[in-house]
Amino acid sequence: MRKPFVAGNWKMNKTVDQATLLVADMLPGLEAVKTVDRVVCPPFTSLMVISGMLAGTEVGLGAQNLHWEESGAFTGELSPAMVKEFCQYVIIGHSERRAYFGDTDETVNKKVKAAIAIGLTPIVCVGETLDEYEAGKTGDVVARQVKNGLKEIEAKDAEKLVVAYEPIWAIGTGKAASAEEAQDVIGNVVRKNLVVAFGDEVAQKIRILYGGSVKAGNAADFFGKPDIDGGLIGGAALKAEDFVKIVEAAA
Ligand code: PGA
Repeated sequence: MRKPFVAGNWKMNKTVDQATLLVADMLPGLEAVKTVDRVVCPPFTSLMVISGMLAGTEVGLGAQNLHWEESGAFTGELSPAMVKEFCQYVIIGHSERRAYFGDTDETVNKKVKAAIAIGLTPIVCVGETLDEYEAGKTGDVVARQVKNGLKEIEAKDAEKLVVAYEPIWAIGTGKAASAEEAQDVIGNVVRKNLVVAFGDEVAQKIRILYGGSVKAGNAADFFGKPDIDGGLIGGAALKAEDFVKIVEAAA
């Protein structure tokens, strides 16, 4: 019932030339998998040229962040309208932004509202640290992030949201959560809190992704779980062959 969704988060990798080559390499493979929503999220500098390459294809384009204000004295930031010029999606509240650049549940909420208002689809990231995981606090932390990050969003807007559960200890470490663990948090914490916030009908429409060391070899395990609708892919999204295989695994 929910269309699978796979996004590649390139993080701070690839110059414009490198990004162009990578997209050219993966595009035929991505185009072929019509039953999956597939999205690439390169750095800001490549968005303009990549949006040209993707025009007329079904492959979506996302930014990795945005600011919630419309314009003004915010050195180094990009407004929702600037992102919207090239993108359909935007990653919000990635754990690296929360850890190094001051994103909080409150700013995540402002960014989500701003993205929705301009017509971008937010990919909202949540996930616990290793300490929180080891202390058995995963459920509390993720529930709080979902609740506060999506506060005051109307149900009619919420059904378009994409939420990514990414345990921080699994990101870039090669140590993925087990598919069972990921399903448990995604089903029993993320989707349950979406039901509380937006009602069952809307919550059943929201795509929820797993992220953290997803590879071509383990993707199918995650995507086979009932509440896991796809993945947010970091390292493996930088290799055309691997990313296409992961998208194929979601079909
Ligand atoms: P990874 O990153 O796939 O390299 O673990 C995922 C992410 O941070 O979105």
